[in-house]
Amino acid sequence: MSRSIVIAIDGPAASGKSTVARRLADELGFTYVNTGTMYRALTWQFLEENLLMEEASIISRIQTLPFEVWIDGGHVEMRIAGVDPVEYTREERVNGFVPKVATIPEVRQILTDKMRSLAKHSHLVMEGRDIGSVVFPQTPYKFFIDADEEIRNKRRKAQGEIDEIQSRDKIDSSRKSAPLQVAPGAIRIDTSHMNVDQVMESIYSELPKMGLVLV
Ligand code: C5P
Repeated sequence: MSRSIVIAIDGPAASGKSTVARRLADELGFTYVNTGTMYRALTWQFLEENLLMEEASIISRIQTLPFEVWIDGGHVEMRIAGVDPVEYTREERVNGFVPKVATIPEVRQILTDKMRSLAKHSHLVMEGRDIGSVVFPQTPYKFFIDADEEIRNKRRKAQGEIDEIQSRDKIDSSRKSAPLQVAPGAIRIDTSHMNVDQVMESIYSELPKMGLVLV
């Protein structure tokens, strides 16, 4: 596929971006890519290897770690040293460490290259923190999904997870390399008082204005 369409969905933790990104991908027949899962998978691996206190060890390990990401049957598959890490990516210890791993430019570069390579094979709805600003800055289809802090906290608790979302957002927004921000040209949607159908409606009303012809 020479020119894939990439719809970038960025936003802070528990803003509702995964729900809308997944649904949008399903409805359009695009591949859904959760880039947070990739950062989480590497964090889990580094925890397993006890590397987390040492940034230099992570930088050295990432150069040789066998880490593969590909699309199979419309779904993203991942392996680290032959192991599918997805089931471990929501562990509480991963929540705590992932923003620290995500500050390391060498880690970001390797993951960014892998994210870009996925667009060679499929149209994508890709969610994350820097998709519209760094990974695919040239895509015209960019959204920033946001919600009040209190509401995001409630949503994460309702999912039964212990997750310090404020401290993650603070690290994600203030890091030097690819910080969480509203990308130039992105449409910001505040989902605090919207249900999923309303958010989808808003996205569908914006996409044609951005130039995407929906048939
Ligand atoms: O999306 P999720 O909350 O699962 O992401 C976990 C963490 O991964 C974020 O808090 C952030 O530190 C990092 N991340 C990132 N850039 C992305 C996606 C996730 O830095 N594109």
